[in-house]
Amino acid sequence: MNSYAPLLAALIALLAGLAIGKAWERYKLRGGTWIDRRRARQSPHYILGLNFLVSNQIDLAIEELSHAASLDAEALEVHMILGNLYREKGQVGKAITVHQSLLQRARLSRVEHAYVLLCLGLDYKRGGFVDRAVEAFNEVLRLDPKNEYALVNLQKLHEEQHQWIEAYDTRQRLTKLAAIESQPQSQAILAFLENEIGLEAMRRKDYPEAVRHFQAALDLDARAIPAYLNLGDVRVAEGKEKDAVTIWETLVEIAPDRAYLTFDRLEAHAVRSGSPDRFTKLCERLIEENPQDWRARLALARHLISDGSPQGALDLLFAALVQNPHALSIHQAIWRTLGQLRHPQTLVDRYGDLTEHAVFYLDPHVCMRCRYRSTELLWQCPHCHDWNTFVEERIAPAQDSTEVEV
Ligand SMILES: [Zn+2]
Repeated sequence: MNSYAPLLAALIALLAGLAIGKAWERYKLRGGTWIDRRRARQSPHYILGLNFLVSNQIDLAIEELSHAASLDAEALEVHMILGNLYREKGQVGKAITVHQSLLQRARLSRVEHAYVLLCLGLDYKRGGFVDRAVEAFNEVLRLDPKNEYALVNLQKLHEEQHQWIEAYDTRQRLTKLAAIESQPQSQAILAFLENEIGLEAMRRKDYPEAVRHFQAALDLDARAIPAYLNLGDVRVAEGKEKDAVTIWETLVEIAPDRAYLTFDRLEAHAVRSGSPDRFTKLCERLIEENPQDWRARLALARHLISDGSPQGALDLLFAALVQNPHALSIHQAIWRTLGQLRHPQTLVDRYGDLTEHAVFYLDPHVCMRCRYRSTELLWQCPHCHDWNTFVEERIAPAQDSTEVEV
């Protein structure tokens, strides 16, 4: 019996140790009394608050989490979430007060400090306090140099202020952190930023510098469309028109879906250099390669109209209309051409038949991310600030108008 005593004592000591450890983990001595660290998280208010948060009922989430927070002034994450909810509600002042008071805490770990600062930076950004937001995000990065969230927000702030070089440097830090599979996307964003830096050089008429940046953009991403357009424009400004044409023709090869962006430039050059056929052939080839290309048809039609052959133009325009009945620019060209031909009844009737079921949109471009609409193709969305998110909006004509309910 006695031989069991040391074993028993050891077991009891072990259990006691475990219990004390658990208690230590759970309770914390504050002002001479033991505080239950898990009080806020164990209260039903915390769970309810999170549930409301998940179902996007922000007001109810704030109410429940406020209760949970009042049970435990120490629970950092509950207060942090509460502050973020105030920000989401647009109560930026309240959010800033909550997050600033968390920063005053004596024993924040490095990670906690960085996260509270990140929240504060987002508050400042939302409130439009740009300088303070930049300062907060930079402070986060001093504490945690790999904080991608701080880098993304910093990049957007620089972009909003057209500080392209700073935005570029920040995106470069992000690119280094990015996983291999998201590298091409990050490179494409860098290319857009290079293009913006090049445009600034172009405005200063510093052409060699502009060329360097547009070229760098193309090295980063061969599909950096605006860099081709701008590089060609610089070459024209430098008097190297042949180089410009080569660059724009490269764009057509690499991205036939964006070829139309070069049409005005290439047509003007073809006419100026006395070989308008060159432009006609380009359009014909594009239509042949992609029968849905309504823009090449429209461009060719305009070219034929200015050349004095409206009849051939009208056939092209009707064919373009079949591909995209919503494009106002096609209709405008048709109206003008019908006017030139003095409205022959058969052609007017044909136009009427083609447009019977069409719905018109003045703004055929839409952001894939936030559904922002624009009449022009934009490289950066003015609403969600993402790069290269616009696609041409096309809606097939309704098959049977009686079935459609809008
Ligand atoms: Zn957008």
